Amino acid sequence: MCGIVGYIGYDQATPLLLEGLKKLEYRGYDSAGVAIHTGSELKVVKAQGRLQMLSDKINNGNNIKGFLGIGHTRWATHGKPSEKNSHPHVSQLGKFAVVHNGIIENYIQIKEELLKNGVKFVSDTDTEVVAQLIEYYYDADILNTMSKVANKIEGSYALGIVCLDKPNELIAMRKSSPLIIGIGKNENFIASDVTAIISRTRDIIRLNDEEIAIIKKDKVTVYDKNKNRVTPIPFHVDWNISTSEKSGYEHFMLKEIMEQPKSIMETIKPRIKDGKIVLDDLNFSKDDLEKISKICIIACGSAYHVGFVAKYIFEKILRKPVEITIASEFRYMDPIIDDSVLVISISQSGETADTLAALREAKSSGAKVLSIVNVVGSSIANDSDDVIYTWAGPEIAVATTKAYSTQLSVVYLLAIHMAYMLSKITKEQYDSYINDLLLLPEKVEEILANKDTIKSFAQKFCNCKNIFFIGRNIDYAVSLEGSLKLKEISYIHSEAYPAGELKHGTISLIEEGTLVVALATNDMLFDKMVSNIKEVKARGAVVLSLTTEKHKDLEEISDFNICIPQVCDMMMASLSVIPLQLFAYYVAHLKGCDIDKPRNLAKSVTVE
Ligand code: GLU
Repeated sequence: MCGIVGYIGYDQATPLLLEGLKKLEYRGYDSAGVAIHTGSELKVVKAQGRLQMLSDKINNGNNIKGFLGIGHTRWATHGKPSEKNSHPHVSQLGKFAVVHNGIIENYIQIKEELLKNGVKFVSDTDTEVVAQLIEYYYDADILNTMSKVANKIEGSYALGIVCLDKPNELIAMRKSSPLIIGIGKNENFIASDVTAIISRTRDIIRLNDEEIAIIKKDKVTVYDKNKNRVTPIPFHVDWNISTSEKSGYEHFMLKEIMEQPKSIMETIKPRIKDGKIVLDDLNFSKDDLEKISKICIIACGSAYHVGFVAKYIFEKILRKPVEITIASEFRYMDPIIDDSVLVISISQSGETADTLAALREAKSSGAKVLSIVNVVGSSIANDSDDVIYTWAGPEIAVATTKAYSTQLSVVYLLAIHMAYMLSKITKEQYDSYINDLLLLPEKVEEILANKDTIKSFAQKFCNCKNIFFIGRNIDYAVSLEGSLKLKEISYIHSEAYPAGELKHGTISLIEEGTLVVALATNDMLFDKMVSNIKEVKARGAVVLSLTTEKHKDLEEISDFNICIPQVCDMMMASLSVIPLQLFAYYVAHLKGCDIDKPRNLAKSVTVE
């Protein structure tokens, strides 16, 4: 995720681009850059760090004159944040400058082809292949060229392009990443969202997938990827700036909950090629995997709960022992680690101080460290032997949702990949898991479409003082996350318990009317959960159960029931967590809490 702005018109482009980028900084902020067509050349300036660094470098935009330009604020997915990896990327002969949001999935293959043809690359990004490919295909007809590019590149992209030969044209193209065109009077814009341009225009065209736009200051022409003209339908937005940053949602948290199908897809899809999981960043041979004596997972908060799910999964399909430890405990417990141990650390920011300290401790004892992080070039990423990025884009709400979901997706990819390498699962199982993985986004979408049902439950229970979440196996791991989410943002006390453990003490807290949220998605343990639900009901609990379509009849013994789609047991966490996130959100909303910035919490905990 990143922010794109482009301008063509009668005004100086650079200050306008900087102003737009400022509004988009929430979409990414590890580096920034602009490319301006001065009339005779493409002037490109980039800077690592916050946008201010770029502004300072170009005297707030007053140093570069021109009426056409593109700008970018980056959230790296491929290649560390650095000046050479920042956008705009310029083609070898300097004819094109390109800004990009998304991931070019087949960039390695294209890069190899271009290298063979003598093209030289200067960055580590996937984006640079687009700039080089455009120049490689360029035949003076920009539409023809872009059509060839659209038919070659795979993945997600929103592209803003300027061409040295075309001082009066701004070019745009998109697929699966957002890009809008703002229509002004004698000026037009492109942007990742309306926030960037709302001060100049509220008349918008939304580009559809695989459409190409050729934008002049007084004319916008849109084509499909096969060069056929399409007629876009402009619309007018009346959002205020704060709403438009959140794409119309009231809070970043809800926006991020709703983004999960897309985020999960972006984490998974580029890593499945021709029906196989390809983890380019992983340097593991079969031999290395065989030598692993145990896996230690270290993490904090929600990432720790992902680790909990991972423990069940890895042990089940890898048949290797897995220990999961809260990172702040790991360091001081004298962990038994040597070079046969694989340590997996999980952190959204990649800067979590406790996790970083724990992984350094593990490394100093000889362990190999693999990290699952969201921020490219973060401290944890830098200190790890291997990194798998979650590619969730920046998460703004303090309470994590999409980072949690994408971390889970990486866990599945990793577990299936390693189990297959070790011949612990058959080809049929492998194929079936991959099939289930690819179905996850649409199943999550199905649950989200039902969010009003969850809202109605929130209305019933928003005044509770204590709530219990129970489940077994992975359902227990998800209960931990559901309970934490509720505590974080609604300030209601809640506890998650393994359903079978409640009767060993905590059941004494259940009284008339206590809400128990019971997760029962696991087929094998379903009957056991039925018994546990009856136990709490017999003590006066009100039960809100969560199960799959197959066990819909659970509603007969529960007071309320949430029914979600089915996927293999191993991946149920990705579905069952969604209603719990929504429940926490709506409860907090009804209580009037500061959802995106809950009291006492910080997004990235960089102190021990
Ligand atoms: N994949 C591109 C990069 O790493 C664009 C990332 C983005 O969308 O922010 O530079």
